[in-house]
Amino acid sequence: MASDCVFCKIAAGEIDSRVLYRDELATAFWDIHPVAPLHILIVPNRHISSVNEMNAEDEALVGHLVYVAKLVAKEQGVDQAGYRLSINTGPNAGQSVFHIHVHLLAGKPLPIHIG
Ligand code: 5GP
Ligand code: ZN
Repeated sequence: MASDCVFCKIAAGEIDSRVLYRDELATAFWDIHPVAPLHILIVPNRHISSVNEMNAEDEALVGHLVYVAKLVAKEQGVDQAGYRLSINTGPNAGQSVFHIHVHLLAGKPLPIHIG
């Protein structure tokens, strides 16, 4: 665990947060500042700073995050209406927490935009 990483602490259960799902590889919890009616983050329990720091051995783990997002979307009842998964990487994408995470956004028609 990265000792100063908030998402490592949430994944380890050291910080009280609204966790929806946890398994041996990943944790899903509500975003603290939602930008959509449903805004959930899915993180690996093991620290990876961003997509840029992914190694080949992380491929299945990052794929698992998408699978967990699918499970959570179904459990939350937004799978058929639709949802967006996004992974911000680096400054131009506005990444603010350097522990890789998938945003699951849903609950309304989402604007299609770049930037
Ligand atoms: P990024 O901009 O790095 O892609 O997204 C980081 C997200 O993490 C933001 O949507 C922000 O609201 C969320 N966030 C930051 N700190 C915390 C926290 O301590 N708890 C939770 N639940 N979400 C957080
Ligand atoms: Zn971390």
